[in-house]
Amino acid sequence: LLQLYMPLNFLGFVYRQIKQSLTDMERMFSLLDVGKEVEDNPKARELVCHEATVRFEDVHFAYNEDRQILKGVSFEVPAGKTVAVVGPSGAGKSTLTRLMFRFYDASSGRITIDGQDVRDVTQGSLRRSIGIVPQDTVLFNDTIAYNIAYGRPGAAQDEIDNVATLASIRDFIKGLPDGFKTMVGERGLKLSGGEKQRVSIARMLLKRPKIMIFDEATSALDTRTEKDIQQALRDVSRGHTTLIIAHRLSTVIDADEIIVLRDGKVAERGRHHDLLEQNGLYGEMWAQQQEIRQAEEILAHAGAND
Ligand code: ADP
Ligand code: MG
Repeated sequence: LLQLYMPLNFLGFVYRQIKQSLTDMERMFSLLDVGKEVEDNPKARELVCHEATVRFEDVHFAYNEDRQILKGVSFEVPAGKTVAVVGPSGAGKSTLTRLMFRFYDASSGRITIDGQDVRDVTQGSLRRSIGIVPQDTVLFNDTIAYNIAYGRPGAAQDEIDNVATLASIRDFIKGLPDGFKTMVGERGLKLSGGEKQRVSIARMLLKRPKIMIFDEATSALDTRTEKDIQQALRDVSRGHTTLIIAHRLSTVIDADEIIVLRDGKVAERGRHHDLLEQNGLYGEMWAQQQEIRQAEEILAHAGAND
């Protein structure tokens, strides 16, 4: 019986592994909004990422030839610094992250990491050095623990616990019947946008890659939860090269440089106060958001008096 059982069990294991990795790949691709596949250059080398300086040099890009999305974008995220990209929706902000991850290639210009063109390194080594909290997180059909530990398989439970706490999601998970073993994804428990973002943030906190990208990573969180998490993000990104794409400008005040992207071009750049003084697009966006914030405060106040 044992002889019969072993191979069957083993086959079952192999089957589950294959099925899982297929779902993972599927998820990963839709997760990152990938179009056609970009292949490794036959001479591709492993990325050597020590300082982790990221440079965009006159990058042009179009998904379809009839419409240019990026029209010559240049900026640098110096090693260990934080650069924020803001701008109207549709400006091409998320596209920047897709080019960095090499889901697409620039049509001209280049993106380098420590001087190496992303097109000359293996995608595996590139993606190990970069972590992203995307705009819309799609979870794997697996447990919450698996989803958090995805960037660093084999992480101990207390590490997973710790990052879940930092991402303000631990109490929620502990309250579920199966805790960290709860199945999520399409066939499991459906999490809200904000809960998925927090799982994704916990994953990033655990992976701690050299280069971190946050693409409107806290946009689905309420202001209070966002504040709680912001400190954890500041702590973890200290000394890591960080690109923040932000919706709420209050989250980018401290950035070393803010790039205002409009219509596929850098419209303004500088630190928060410089940009306010310029009284341009950034100034306009800031004023608008201040008004919304004040309105929210008034509403919250009215709610508290009910
Ligand atoms: P942002 O993040 O600044 O809101 P995106 O970089 O996501 O903007 O998109 C920039 C433009 O490219 C938008 O007009 C969007 O509709 C278009 N776009 C995004 N993804 C694709 C795609 N896969 N195929 C064609 N057009 C796309
Ligand atoms: Mg976007």
